[in-house]
Amino acid sequence: MNGVNILLTLSFLGLATFIASAYDPSPLQDFCVAIDDPNKASVFVNGKFCKDPKYAKAEDFFFSGLNIAGDTNNKVGSNVTHVDVDKMPGLNTLGISLVRVDFAPYGESPPHTHPRATEILVVVEGQLSVGFVTSNQDGNRLFSKVLNKGDVFVFPIGLIHFQFNPGKVPAVAFVGFGSQNPGTITIANAVFGSNPAINPEILAKAFQLDQKIVEQLQKKFWVAN
Ligand code: MN
Repeated sequence: MNGVNILLTLSFLGLATFIASAYDPSPLQDFCVAIDDPNKASVFVNGKFCKDPKYAKAEDFFFSGLNIAGDTNNKVGSNVTHVDVDKMPGLNTLGISLVRVDFAPYGESPPHTHPRATEILVVVEGQLSVGFVTSNQDGNRLFSKVLNKGDVFVFPIGLIHFQFNPGKVPAVAFVGFGSQNPGTITIANAVFGSNPAINPEILAKAFQLDQKIVEQLQKKFWVAN
């Protein structure tokens, strides 16, 4: 192996390490039960501080209440009950979390993306019309499907996706995420509901809309589901 090859190999290994660390890291211990930062001035690095393992207890790995339907009485007709690291401290560093999503008849989870996780969904009640759109480079292709009870769909990390209940009865889904803290960016909220507002002239050009319509959209209340 000559010097150039060694250099290329080393660069590749460096890149592979970077890619691997771009996701929730694999834990180097059995668990790392999260505690709130006892010192607000401390540096907060990709996760939370760990409880001394000898003080960990079963409750750190436990959550109760996903049998309870969320309140869907809002503008989008859906509700998300999160079981993330904030609700279950034992999830810290484990790279996984769970939510229950309730949909009123014709309710939806509006177009959104999760910056840190792939999402896998199973319908346990009712019906859902779901889909995701690929990136610009892949032609913004829509992959969509109508799901019935027991059907499963996966939404790749970072891609814009939605779920809509086309039925006259409520729908319920459970969703697993490949992150303890997947994050959610609801497109309408981020674009039209940012704080402070994005210059409406910019949005008018971006969306090919009259500026007055943009200003109306910016005055609306956007439900963060
Ligand atoms: Mn989602």
